[in-house]
Amino acid sequence: MSHVFPRHTKAVLPTVAAGDGCYLTDTAGKRYLDACGGAAVSCLGHTPRPVIDAVKSQLDRVAYAHTSFFTSEPAEELADHLIARAPEGIGRVYFVSGGSEATESAIKLARQFFTEQGEGARRHVIARWQSYHGNTLGALAAGGNRWRRAQFQPLLTGAMHHIAPCHYWRWGEPGESPEAYGLRVADELEAKILELGPETVAAFIAEPVVGATMGAVPAVPGYFKRIREICDRYGVLLILDEVMCGMGRTGYLFACEADGISPDIVCIAKGLGAGVQPIGAMLCSDEIYRRIEEGSGFFQHGHTYLGHPAACAGSLAVMREIEQNDLLARVRQTGDKLQAALEAAFGQHWAVGDIRGRGLFRGIELVADKETKAPFDSGLGIAAKIKKAAFANGLMVYPMGGTVDGQNGDHILIAPPFILEEAQIAEIIDKLGPAMESALASARA
Ligand code: PLP
Repeated sequence: MSHVFPRHTKAVLPTVAAGDGCYLTDTAGKRYLDACGGAAVSCLGHTPRPVIDAVKSQLDRVAYAHTSFFTSEPAEELADHLIARAPEGIGRVYFVSGGSEATESAIKLARQFFTEQGEGARRHVIARWQSYHGNTLGALAAGGNRWRRAQFQPLLTGAMHHIAPCHYWRWGEPGESPEAYGLRVADELEAKILELGPETVAAFIAEPVVGATMGAVPAVPGYFKRIREICDRYGVLLILDEVMCGMGRTGYLFACEADGISPDIVCIAKGLGAGVQPIGAMLCSDEIYRRIEEGSGFFQHGHTYLGHPAACAGSLAVMREIEQNDLLARVRQTGDKLQAALEAAFGQHWAVGDIRGRGLFRGIELVADKETKAPFDSGLGIAAKIKKAAFANGLMVYPMGGTVDGQNGDHILIAPPFILEEAQIAEIIDKLGPAMESALASARA
């Protein structure tokens, strides 16, 4: 009997034995095409040699040194690398161990930014429904995914507020242009700030491309520009959560480049370490850093593994691989081909409502009725069944479906390694089709 506490206690999982390129192999010798990079993590494929070598060589020098005593060369070099490519105004990097730690750090930093100069009343944070910012209690309260929140009420919600997400295909009004829709839902932020009192709102947090709740939904053009304007008007900090969509996943190192805006704080993780080591980071503006530096001189937050030297060394190698192999351009090109292949194979399917995304971050939204866009009954577990059937057939895709209010619907996320080849696009299509048919058979029965 195993003593591991798995997330799905009833699932019987194969044991992973090895990884190579876009594939994983289990101990029975079965191969799986990892078309979701786990959870949009393994951006360089499995066992990327230069990253592993960088980690090994750092481990031989020094594995760990607490950041209250030391800085380290890998952390310094990685921070320099990221800041040289970061959105305008971003000047400092705070390394953590994963995505939830990054968003928690961002929310706490946004609040401390205001308490540093006596504006302690700025404690409210506004987020969006159908978002995900992590599973720790603070990040969970910010996230707007009702399924994940349901069992943990009351959450730390006294200061967390939500506005509508930006998903034009699902929520645009008939006859409304994408631009008009984007401005309408962005303006909900202004209304919420005014309702709470502008002097009480510290930050707004959003994913540039929503990942873990809706399956790769980018905002419509103009939405984030309006969001930026509103934040500036009221002195509210803009936090972008790029934990899933950042680090090249959309074909840009920072996803917000495509939206033409700069945040005050940006969170990254997942692809930052490519799965070789756990690592995340919160990047903040020079202005925020200066206020802490000139104020208390101390960020009242920290974790044991901040700036872990081996994780930073691995991540620096990931960043170099992306650049040396021109992987951002490759992600954009392969992403377009993947989108075209998905549309050709499934665009006319009776249960496929929307196929969208950016780069190698693509989502398929399944619907019970294409005309009304009505989602499937969540009890059917369509997305979970697709995942299961695809996995049995040697394909990994990432399902989203859980909801307590019938709003979220079923989505399949495809987020393969950046080294995906055309033959593997065909393999995704060949294996996903039958998996969809077998899962949807239960909905038709
Ligand atoms: N933020 C976003 C946008 C995510 O997609 C995730 C994880 O899926 C997180 C935060 C949490 O990251 P982690 O699971 O590394 O804590």
